[in-house]
Amino acid sequence: MKDSNCIFCKIANGEIPSATLFEDEMVRVILDISPASKGHALILPKDHYANLYEIDEEVAKHVIVTAKRQAIKMKEALGVEGINIVQNNGEIAGQTVFHYHMHIVPRYEGDKVNIKWEPGELSEKDKEELVKKLSL
Ligand code: AMP
Ligand code: ZN
Repeated sequence: MKDSNCIFCKIANGEIPSATLFEDEMVRVILDISPASKGHALILPKDHYANLYEIDEEVAKHVIVTAKRQAIKMKEALGVEGINIVQNNGEIAGQTVFHYHMHIVPRYEGDKVNIKWEPGELSEKDKEELVKKLSL
């Protein structure tokens, strides 16, 4: 399913041109227009899923396999020193385009990428409660 109002549907399906690194029947990999670092890429499914909660599981599997392949290419071709995989869900988490996408962010010594948080503490009470509530 596509969403006619969604810019990533249009990019993923080739209606809007993009700097494409890879394409197959399920996904398109493009360069991010406002990169966090050199080579920052996005994996877009061709069908519209707003976020991780909605994405089809087969598509999700294909996205991560594509990420692995693209990451290896980045390592070989750019000599990147590390890679962060980022995937935002919901405005509070930093999602700005509501069509599922995965960021592949190459890391270099001295880059300006900031993906950090202050480590907290897992209390015994929280641990017990969370294991109870979150076990699948
Ligand atoms: P997020 O904040 O996770 O929703 O990420 C959206 C990403 O899409 C940002 O990194 C934007 O720079 C990128 N972006 C938005 N519009 C375009 C576009 N037309 N082509 C390529 N990347 C885009
Ligand atoms: Zn879409």
